[in-house]
Amino acid sequence: MFSLLTEFFAEHERIFVLTGAGVSTASGIPDYRDEHGDWKHQQPMEYQEFVERHEARQRYWARSFIGWQRFNHARPNRAHLALARLEQLHRLTRTVTQNVDGLHQRAGSRQLTELHGSLATVACLDCGAVIERVSMQQQLLKRNPALADLTAQIAADGDAHLNDFDTCKVDLPACASCGGILKPQVVFFGESVPAARVESCFHALASADAMLVVGSSLMVYSGFRFVRAAHNAGIPVAAINRGKTRADEILSFKISQDCATALSSVLENIDIDAGFYHQNLVVTQCPDKL
Ligand SMILES: [Zn+2]
Repeated sequence: MFSLLTEFFAEHERIFVLTGAGVSTASGIPDYRDEHGDWKHQQPMEYQEFVERHEARQRYWARSFIGWQRFNHARPNRAHLALARLEQLHRLTRTVTQNVDGLHQRAGSRQLTELHGSLATVACLDCGAVIERVSMQQQLLKRNPALADLTAQIAADGDAHLNDFDTCKVDLPACASCGGILKPQVVFFGESVPAARVESCFHALASADAMLVVGSSLMVYSGFRFVRAAHNAGIPVAAINRGKTRADEILSFKISQDCATALSSVLENIDIDAGFYHQNLVVTQCPDKL
């Protein structure tokens, strides 16, 4: 099964990678959707609701306070590390992730676009001031000591499910500069990905000769559009994903397996080939030493 993917890497030199929640499940961050592409948990916060309703923000920050602790302790898994290594081997034009957990960065990926932003920073919706998430957590805890005792199950956006906790009593910190509303620097549902960020991804896709989707059902348009663009440009697209994706009909092939195992297998083959190539190069360049 994995040899298909190894062949894919052998046939294509520069690959554009798009990752989703499935790449982080082995790091203990649950996936959004089941194998049929349906929501496993309640839907994440909508942008309009967050901006317009104080109660929605209270609910969001209470859940997210708990969720962040789990995120902050998560570590990159073999899938993140394999992609970082593939980048070092100059096999990737870009890694674009739909995840907001920062794990690709921690694994060492540098040619990286966090399409939906990152939970690590918080910005004021009014004046644009940015603070570290850690500072937001401290402020939330200081105002709401009861949050420390809560245990809850988290979802893939860092949100968490709180039972028996009255979020209407949550005392929210405001922007220290202007008193404005604070929001994590992630793209919520109903909000657009910044145009410049999307453009830079399309640019990286144009220089690729293939695209690989890793751990995404592609149900969200912000990621799906890259698959559609690749397909329209005649760039082959493969996927590693457990279960259905929105692009199943246009994929060259799909591997319904664990991301970490599939990518590690590819990497082993490539690294062996790289060593073989290097040895031959040395021999060819120094014939007098034979
Ligand atoms: Zn402000």
